[in-house]
Order: sequence, then structure tokens, then C-alpha cells
Amino acid sequence: MTQETGGFAALGLHSSVVAALTAVGYEEPSPIQAQAIPMILAGHDMIGQAQTGTGKTAAFALPILSKIDPSKREPQALILAPTRELALQVATAFETYSKQMPGLNVVAVYGGAPMGPQLKALRMGAQVVVATPGRLVDHLGRNADLLKTVQFLVLDEADEMLKLGFMDDLEVIFQALPESRQSVLFSATLPASIRAIAEKHLREPKHVKIAAKTQTVARIEQAHLMVHADQKVAAVTRLLEVEDFDALIGFVRTKQATLDVASALEARGYKVAPLNGDIAQNQRERVIESLKDGRLDIVIATDVAARGIDVPRITHVLNIDMPYDPESYVHRIGRTGRAGREGRALLLVTPRERRMLQVIERVTGQKVAEVRLPDAETVLQARIRRLSQKLQPLVATAEASHGDLLAKLATDLECSPQALAAALLAKLTEGQGLTLDAVRREQPEVPNFSSRERSSSGERSGERRERAPRAEGEGARGRSMPPVAEGRARCRAGVGARDGIQAKNLLGAILNEGGLSREALGRIQIRDTFSLVELPEEGLDRLLAKLKDTRVAGKQLKLRRYRED
Ligand code: ADP
Ligand code: MG
Repeated sequence: MTQETGGFAALGLHSSVVAALTAVGYEEPSPIQAQAIPMILAGHDMIGQAQTGTGKTAAFALPILSKIDPSKREPQALILAPTRELALQVATAFETYSKQMPGLNVVAVYGGAPMGPQLKALRMGAQVVVATPGRLVDHLGRNADLLKTVQFLVLDEADEMLKLGFMDDLEVIFQALPESRQSVLFSATLPASIRAIAEKHLREPKHVKIAAKTQTVARIEQAHLMVHADQKVAAVTRLLEVEDFDALIGFVRTKQATLDVASALEARGYKVAPLNGDIAQNQRERVIESLKDGRLDIVIATDVAARGIDVPRITHVLNIDMPYDPESYVHRIGRTGRAGREGRALLLVTPRERRMLQVIERVTGQKVAEVRLPDAETVLQARIRRLSQKLQPLVATAEASHGDLLAKLATDLECSPQALAAALLAKLTEGQGLTLDAVRREQPEVPNFSSRERSSSGERSGERRERAPRAEGEGARGRSMPPVAEGRARCRAGVGARDGIQAKNLLGAILNEGGLSREALGRIQIRDTFSLVELPEEGLDRLLAKLKDTRVAGKQLKLRRYRED
């Protein structure tokens, strides 16, 4: 038995759902999941209140999948989400969690895309329908009986839906659903309008609230930096170069991430090990011992596995993935600053996690200052500083022990002591990049942006703002174009603003037809007659082939690699 899904199995989920979770690598239910799952399984209506990033999707998806009958090919669950992008995220999550359920199909129904394929998927008997309210009402206009078989309704991000003016659409949808259904509502806030909906359309709902309790934080220096989800490893390697740490613990959410990050760092020469719930207890203890005595300097852990670690050498906590709640943030950063020592805690924040950062600040009553990712110059300075630290103790004594040898070698080689010292330095630092160019070559470019800028991932609007090219000298090639991130290629679509195209249309079409996750896409720029979009280099040709006939706003996308000259 794998230890890590024990927490989920105990909640009473269907075995095929638990099996899919093993593959995803979740170790234990988040607080909202631990409370909501048993309640939904028991058939109660429910109101769940929790912040972004607390794992609400799985909180409803896992119990609903456990209750669905995949042999019945008709809509059984309806999830309403405020935006197309959130609907796609939820649909993807359902697909992931139902990997071990043959015959289970999910359809996403949203505006801005042709209705044909959505209708087809509905007719083919998708059991899970994830929809934005507006488009669903359009479908109901064609087929009023569409939702007659639905047994589970979820209103996800209900407050957002109301903000976007979906109130009337929701009423239409409620009328089209069977009375006997089970209804669940998730919302970050519960204004009067939401309470009114619950009052009217839910049956004796149970309340689950993950309240953020005020926490006291040890005197630890805290900072955060903004980074896109797919750039985290690159960001971590840069940070490690400039942070002066003794021992460091990095927190991630999944077992797989502990392995991925640890091996990426190992490849860069760090003494690092993963720590997760799959690792046997005695092995875990060995890892912690090694961290204590310096055989290891870095441990990449999940929250569960790191519980109770007390290693005074830990000077740094690196929150690579966001914690679920302020409590676990406080727990995590409490791993440093032990025994009255100084500690430093860094938090990577992706654009959609900004709100969680604010919650952490509110609950802990402390500002978590923003820092920028170090640039190549800073990395180089840090490397040189470390080299001189390493040499420092030697210069005091080495002349007495090795001075004569140096003189003799210089005479033999007919060179100056200076030239000889340079040669020795070259030998000593072989393979270490100690010039600006070398650092740039080694360290992938990571887009640097601030939490004060509008989300450059355009979570809500799908709009992206263009950023000026980074003034990092020769590194930023080209005149007008910012550099493309490592692993991505800039592509050109033959449609632009003149065709009535907005970033969100393009985004939707590519995500939907290309089967990509939002993180896989980089910057989108809409020009007058064409558009630019950054796509993953890996598998690009296949992707372009797949998108060959895709149309946006009735126009063919004509997507191809973009060449600057
Ligand atoms: P919310 O809807 O509350 O904003 P999501 O459901 O989108 O949060 O989940 C946020 C992230 O956390 C997702 O990347 C998801 O895969 C991850 N996640 C959710 N539950 C768990 C868990 N139990 N263990 C590890 N990761 C999880
Ligand atoms: Mg959500």
C-alpha cells in the first residue's frame, strides 16, 4: 500500500479515484478537501468557503467522480465556473482524476468557441459538464431537457460568477435542473447575494469554512517573488546562487515535484535529497540526519514529510509551491530561525496565487516584501564572492607553505607569479562560469515581473500586456521583441486586432484545440494584422499540425513559427 494516498482512501472515495490520485502524487487532503469530501459523499448540500489555491476543485471533483455511474452515458454532474479559463481548468482536473475510470467523459462548454463540438460531446454522453453560465443557457435554448439527468450541481467561484453578472443565467439554469439534485457552492466570500442563492436553491446546506486564524510568526526575514509556474525550477536555481544559505528546505506540493526539483538541483552539483511520504521512515530519518551533519545541504519536501523537522543548520525556507493556508505557511517557515538563529523565508508566487499571498500577509500581520529574481550580473558577483570566501583562509597561510614552490614554478615556466596565479585559478574554477556570458549561457532567461503589474498570465481577462525588452545588454537580442523564455518558441498567427481577435480568443482556441495547459503558453501579443504567441518548443511541429485548421472568429489561424527577420 502506498502511504501517501492513505489520507484520501480513508475519506471513502472510490478506489479508482484514489488510484488516479496516486498517479498525481497528492499526499494528503488539503483542509477544505478533508472537510468537504465526506460531506459531499454523504449526499449533503454544502457551502464551502475558502481562498484561491486551497484545493477546492478536488474537494468537489473527487466525491462527485466517486458517485458517478460511468456506464450511464448522460450528464450527471454540472459544474458552473465564471470564466472559460476556469472552466477549462476544472474540466482538466476532472479528466486527471478520472484517468482510471474508463467510459467517463468530460465536456467543457463555454462561449467564444463553436457550439458544434460541444453539442457533439454532449450527445456522445459526457457525464461531467463543466460550463460557463452564458453558453450553457444558449445550449438550453436549443435543448431544454439537456440537464434533466443531472444529479450533482457545483457552483464554483460563485462570488465571481455574480460579479460577472451571471445572476439571471443562473436562475435559468436552476429551473432546468431536477429538484432532487445535490448542490454544492464554493466561494471565497459570502456576500448577501450568495446567501440568497443558497437560501433559495440549496437544501439545508452544511457550511464548511476554512478560516484563516491569526498566526504569530517567528522573527524570520520574509520575501516573495513572482514567477510563472513553468519557470519555477529556473527561478530556484538562480536564487540558490545568490542566497547565502547553510542548509535549506524547499517545499513543494507533490511527491513528483520533490523528485523533479531535487534531481534538477543535483544536476547542478548541490547536495540535495527529496523527502516525501513515499520514502520509508528509516530512510527519511537518514535524510534528516544528513541535513543535520552537512552531508546534505538541501532537502525538497512535501508538507507531510517535513513535519517536525528540527535542524538548526536550516537558514532558509524556500516555498517553491504555495502552501494551502497561512497556517501551513507559518509551519513551513518555522523550520528556519531555530534556536534563536536568523532565518530567511522565500515564497514563489504565480500570478493566480496573488490572493493567497495577501491572505498570508493579513493573517500573519506582516508584509512579505517583494524581491526580484537576481540577474546574471548579480549571479556572477555572488559566484566571485564565494570564490574569494573559499580562498580567504588560504591567503593567510599558503605563502609560508607554498611560496617557494610558486617561485620555482614561475622560474621554470618563465612567467610572472601573476600569470601563474591566473593559471592556477583557471584550473581551480574549471567548469564554473565566471564571466557574464558564461552565466547567461548557464542560467535560462526567466521573465521577471512584479506583483504590482497586472497579471501577465491574464488569468481573468486573457489579455496580456506587452513588456518592454529587458535592458540586460546583449542578452536581449533584437530591437523590439523581448526574449522568448527558454523552451518556448514564438509563433505567428495570421489574424489580428483588425479581424476582431482578442488575446482571450486566441488563448481559448489554442488551449482547447491544442490540448495544452495554460502554463505551457507564454506571452500573447495582438497586433493589427497578426498576433504573436509563445508556445512550447517541445512537440511544436506536432502542435502546429494539430492547429492547422483551427479557426478563430471565423478566420483560419494560420499559425507558424515566427522569424524575426
Ligand atoms: P482552488 O480552486 O481552491 O483555487 P485548485 O483546486 O485550483 O485550488 O488547486 C490548486 C493547486 O493545488 C492545483 O495545482 C492542484 O493540483 C493542487 N492540489 C489540490 N489538492 C492537492 C493535494 N491534496 N495535494 C497536492 N496538491 C494539491
Ligand atoms: Mg478553483
